[in-house]
Amino acid sequence: MDLLKRLLAVTRLAFAGILVIVTQCAAADDYPSRPVTVIVPFAAGGPTDVLARIVTVHMARTLGQSMVIENVVGAGGTTATTRAARAPNNGYTLIVGHMGTHAAAVPLYSKLAYDPQTDFEPVGLLAGTPIVILARKDFPANNLREFVAYVQANTEKLNAAHAGLGSVSHASGELLNSILGIRPTGVPYNGTGPAMNALVGGQVDYMCDQIVNAVPQVKSGTIKAYAVATQQRNPSLPDVPTTAEAGLPELEVQAWNAFFAPKGTPPAVIATLNAAVSKALDDAVVRKQLLDLGSVIPTPAERTPEALAALVRSEIARWTPLLTQNWH
Ligand code: ASP
Repeated sequence: MDLLKRLLAVTRLAFAGILVIVTQCAAADDYPSRPVTVIVPFAAGGPTDVLARIVTVHMARTLGQSMVIENVVGAGGTTATTRAARAPNNGYTLIVGHMGTHAAAVPLYSKLAYDPQTDFEPVGLLAGTPIVILARKDFPANNLREFVAYVQANTEKLNAAHAGLGSVSHASGELLNSILGIRPTGVPYNGTGPAMNALVGGQVDYMCDQIVNAVPQVKSGTIKAYAVATQQRNPSLPDVPTTAEAGLPELEVQAWNAFFAPKGTPPAVIATLNAAVSKALDDAVVRKQLLDLGSVIPTPAERTPEALAALVRSEIARWTPLLTQNWH
C-alpha cells in the first residue's frame, strides 16, 4: 500500500514537472497571449507618452494583442523605472526608458534603486528626439543671442520648467544653465506634457524639451523656439536655427526613447518585441507621424538590442561627468 502511494506521488511529481516544461514552451511560442503593459514614466501627452502611443498602436497589430500604456509618474521617471525593473520578466511588462531614466539619472541619484545596464533587457530604440530651447510666447528675447543676454542679466527672476531630477528636460536644462553660468529656479512637473501647459500659460519662463512636444506649439505660435541642439536643422521646424548657427555650439543634445524589459525576460520574447518595434518603424504611417514631430527614426543597425545596450553605456559615460561637475 505504502509502495503504491509512493509510486503515485512520484508519478504525480513527474507529471507536474512535464506540465511546467510544456507550459513554459507554450508561453514562449504563444507570446503574447494576453495584453502587454507598457509603462510610460511620465505624464500622458508628453513626448515619451506620444512616441510610445504612436509605435505601440502598430506593434499591437503585429503582435495580435493590445498594448496598454500605463503612465506612472514621479522622481524624474525613476519611480516607474524602479517598478519596471522589479516586474515579472515574462514579457508582459515593458517600460519606455530614455536618456534620463537610463543615463542622466545615474549620477544624479545617489540611491538609484536600479542599474540601467544590469536590471533590464534592452528591446529596441524607438526614436531620437533633438532638444529645443523654448520660452513662453512673450519672453523678452527674439533670438538665442538675446535670450542668452536676458537670462544672464535676470537669472534670479527666472523659472525654468523640467520633468523632475534626472529627466531629459532637467539634464539638458542643467547643461544649458551651466554653459550660460545661470541658476534659475527649477520648477518640476510630472512630465513635460504638464510643463508645456505651464509654458504655454506663461507660468514658467523657459525649458529645454524634446522636439516631439515642441513642434505643435511652435507651429501654432503659442511658445518661442530659439534653437535646436543638433548639428543639422530639423525638417519639422525648418526656420529654427541650430545651437551652433545661433551662437551656442557647446549645447548639443539629442535625447532618445527606447523599450526595455525586466532582466531575464526570455530571448525569444525580446526578439519578438524587437521585430515588432522595427516593423512599426518601417511603416509609412508611423514614419510620417514620427517625422512630422521631428523625431529621428533609428536605422536598422541602430534598432538592435545590442545597439541599445551600447547606447545606454555611452550615454551614462557622457552624462556622468557632465552632471557630476555641473549639478548644484
Ligand atoms: N520625456 C519626459 C516626458 O515625456 C520628460 C523629460 O524627460 O523631460 O514628459
